[in-house]
Amino acid sequence: HADLAMYRAKQGGKDNITFFSPEMNAVDAARASVETQLRGALERGELHVVYQPLHGAAGEVQGAEALLRWRSPLLGDVPPAAFIPVAEDTGLIISIGEFVLREACRQLAAWRQAGKAVTCVSVNISPAQFGRDDFVALVQRTLQAHRLSGRDLELELTERMVLRRVEEVARKMSELRALGVRISLDDFGTGNSALNYLLTLPVTTLKVDRVFIQALDQTPGAYRVVQAIVALGHGLGLDVVAEGVETPAQLMQVRELGCERTQGFLLGRPVPPEDLTL
Ligand code: C2E
Ligand code: MG
Ligand code: MG
Ligand code: MG
Repeated sequence: HADLAMYRAKQGGKDNITFFSPEMNAVDAARASVETQLRGALERGELHVVYQPLHGAAGEVQGAEALLRWRSPLLGDVPPAAFIPVAEDTGLIISIGEFVLREACRQLAAWRQAGKAVTCVSVNISPAQFGRDDFVALVQRTLQAHRLSGRDLELELTERMVLRRVEEVARKMSELRALGVRISLDDFGTGNSALNYLLTLPVTTLKVDRVFIQALDQTPGAYRVVQAIVALGHGLGLDVVAEGVETPAQLMQVRELGCERTQGFLLGRPVPPEDLTL
């Protein structure tokens, strides 16, 4: 991606204000051009949201995860892994994250109006967004603006945010829970979080990272590891989601292990809202 982005940035010619110096390596240069282009991407309408279904144990669509997409005229389709970190470092994630939350709520309300049976929309939240003083108020305002209840929304947070400022995180989570908003720990098992935080934070869901799900087909012992994570979640009264399910064998195993929800390319890829089969 780095080489491609740099190539495209160079092709951009005079209008592109990315500077390349000999000391800059390809990765730095690509990142600089991502940053240049990302400023203003929202205003230029280059960002949009796609939705990946979350299925219940019986295979029915329960909800959808909102995933951000960026189509840059200069850089092409830039994957979130290449621009979310840049958005986080530059503070752009605040306005971009607000856009995703608003879009997801607007879309859920539209599905409801169209009589579709989507129960919930899940939105990824960066630590910098969650850390804002007005984050809970923003969520509340956005729900109200679209006449949604807190139960319609699930926020996906990663373990790395849970490790910092635990008291503040706990307070905000409790406020969100009081609104009915559910809180999922995304990519669970890959961070280096201490398990005791699970006892003190009012999270509702563990989303088992896809490396564990994919290992089910390949690594002896992976089944036992997922089983242990499910037991941990259920022991704490949380529901457990398996992400990244790609094969029928993985699906069979995670259902057998009691994961309440499943998500992955086998069941449905992220698609524009009009293409989501509900
Ligand atoms: P995530 O929240 O863990 O999202 C799951 C990622 O795995 C998505 O990639 C999804 O397309 C991909 N995926 C889903 N099922 C499968 C599967 O069966 N196999 C494989 N190989 N991959 C699968 P995506 O959309 O590229 O997003 C990557 C990450 O970027 C997300 O990971 C999330 O951390 C971040 N992200 C995406 N949208 C947003 C956003 O609006 N805000 C924030 N803060 N982060 C976002
Ligand atoms: Mg997620
Ligand atoms: Mg995830
Ligand atoms: Mg993940």
